[in-house]
Amino acid sequence: MERSLAFLAREAFASLLQLLQKSGYHTVGPQVREGAIVFDTLNTIDQLPKGVHDQQAAGQYRLKQSDSPRLFAWANGPQGIKPFVFSPKEALWRSQRSESGTLTFTAIEPEVKPTAIIGVRPCDIAALYLQDKHFLQQESLDPSYQKRREQLLLIVVNCTHPAKTCFCASTGDGPQANYGYDIALTELDDGFLLEAHNQRGHQLIEKLPIQPATEQQQRLAEQALTKAANQQTRQLPGQNLNQKLFENLKHPQWQDIAERCLSCGNCTAVCPSCFCHSEGELAALDGHSSEHYREWDSCFSPGHSHIHGITIRADTRTKYRQWLTHKLGSWHTQYGRSGCVGCGRCISWCPAGIDLTAEVSIICGGEKDE
Ligand code: SF4
Ligand code: SF4
Repeated sequence: MERSLAFLAREAFASLLQLLQKSGYHTVGPQVREGAIVFDTLNTIDQLPKGVHDQQAAGQYRLKQSDSPRLFAWANGPQGIKPFVFSPKEALWRSQRSESGTLTFTAIEPEVKPTAIIGVRPCDIAALYLQDKHFLQQESLDPSYQKRREQLLLIVVNCTHPAKTCFCASTGDGPQANYGYDIALTELDDGFLLEAHNQRGHQLIEKLPIQPATEQQQRLAEQALTKAANQQTRQLPGQNLNQKLFENLKHPQWQDIAERCLSCGNCTAVCPSCFCHSEGELAALDGHSSEHYREWDSCFSPGHSHIHGITIRADTRTKYRQWLTHKLGSWHTQYGRSGCVGCGRCISWCPAGIDLTAEVSIICGGEKDE
């Protein structure tokens, strides 16, 4: 396929949304809701967060309005695109007891329509691929996830405005997307540089009122992305911390963290790669039927490690240690890479302002020891 690099003027940006809608896609995009940027149904480009910037720090997230015409001059909100493939709560099957006492089980398939998401961040594309590794494993393929995943068209917007909490450059997952999308946009003052990654993206771009991207526009986009990477000051002390973390299971910093951590689970709820869930039954009042459902869970919840009457990780120290040793350590054994894509959400949305990059640097960097 021919590499497609094109320029779409700002005044013509609505044509992209209209084209997706005319092509039969349910369109989703970022918008401001209750002081945060969230992904929801996007009917018109007026809903996009025009001129909005985010200010993020450990335990802080604020939006600020400016006069800028830019639509994507912010880093991220509390959720990526995980809920569009891995639903926060959904019924998996229904059981029904007949008059004679026979039980019938019926799988519940989600109703899914082709969905185009505009404004996906490169780190969230990386997280989606981690979720794929988990939910699409041949031996335990998840049909609900697969059905939603197959219907997704992804329009990534490369990140030119990272937050202070971002560290995707150090994990190799941003600020520019290199895989996994249909079309990538880079926003400039007067419009967007467009690049198709596959045939589907290429066919869509061809139908837009584009012009060939000039050398100057390409240079501006490259400069903006280099600047975005250089602005990031946080980083993990290495891309593979598997060995170091497990060598430091008794490091005193785990207890130091436990004295600040509220075990609230916010970090896992906002993390785009966390996939833990619990399952339960919802019985109908007639006593003849029930629904089996699953919902997001967290390694910080009391029931997460409850097995045969024993809670294996009852204290905050072991819960937090489980989160990080899995996310940054044993994920390498399980899925061939770290489970962290450097989005920084767990830093911004932690009510105690706990910063995993700082904590892990102490634990793996040997600044304290028993
Ligand atoms: S661990 Fe934190 S920074 Fe890493 S992907 Fe999850 S939320 Fe983002
Ligand atoms: S690290 Fe922060 S967000 Fe995570 S459970 Fe502890 S207090 Fe909550």
